[in-house]
Amino acid sequence: MIDLTGKTAIVTGGSRGIGRAIALQLARQGADIVVNFQSSAQAAEEVVSLIKDMGREAIAVQADVRQMDDAQRLIKETLTAFKRIDILVNNAGTTRDGLLLRMSEDDWDIVLDTNLRGAFHCTKAVMRTMMKQRSGRIINITSVAGVAGNAGQANYASAKAGLIGLTKSVAKEMGSRNVTCNAVAPGYIPTDLTADLPEEIIEQARRMTPLGRLGRVEDVAYVTAFLASDEAAFVTAQVLCVDGGMAF
Ligand code: NAP
Repeated sequence: MIDLTGKTAIVTGGSRGIGRAIALQLARQGADIVVNFQSSAQAAEEVVSLIKDMGREAIAVQADVRQMDDAQRLIKETLTAFKRIDILVNNAGTTRDGLLLRMSEDDWDIVLDTNLRGAFHCTKAVMRTMMKQRSGRIINITSVAGVAGNAGQANYASAKAGLIGLTKSVAKEMGSRNVTCNAVAPGYIPTDLTADLPEEIIEQARRMTPLGRLGRVEDVAYVTAFLASDEAAFVTAQVLCVDGGMAF
């Protein structure tokens, strides 16, 4: 059984969806949690209170990961509260779907800034602490779209592919300090992010999945908890698809 007792984890975008499930799962396995959010303060406080009910410590910290100052403050507030940071999950993400021909620069920028620049900011801000500790786990939530590309998601697929490059590079830079960096690539998981997708796209995703069902937020959370554990000590620079075998 994976035991994260005594460890502190930051989950960016921990207020909703996959991040919420990751925050709850890491807490269930013993970790204290910093639930980062951008604007959903109430949802983040709910996650904090569920974690406290499990007997763990948790705080909610508002920070827009697109801003370096916010990322630095997130790390500082974590250290003030918990004195150490063992796990960083770069999960905060957003989409602005549309065909490239019609994609605005704003839609390109917000998706790249949130999904890729956000992870750059938080990783850079946490590096020194983990290097000094000579231990750490960084887990980036990418997407199958970043592995395979996706029509209508050139901005998102580019950001998520970039996140894979960031993952492998950080793994190489931080390996000698016993810090691992891996990516988890979910397939289609029903959350607020995917709520507006047309039914035929969802049905197509189901048909393309050998396991014959859509993913659940918990499917991603279990894999993330494994990568965060001591048991995953020799796993780094990997991209683990949690997609039910959806072929690409
Ligand atoms: P979601 O339900 O829309 O939740 C997004 C989370 O990210 C929220 O907690 C949100 O905070 C936070 N967030 C957004 N922009 C932020 C910013 N600038 N700074 C800080 N936090 C920010 O999305 P989800 O489906 O759980 O997705 C989570 C991650 O999984 C994303 O990286 C997404 O790309 C990835 N993913 C999802 C799927 C899927 O099918 N759902 C598939 C592959 C990959 P607020 O609550 O404050 O808005």
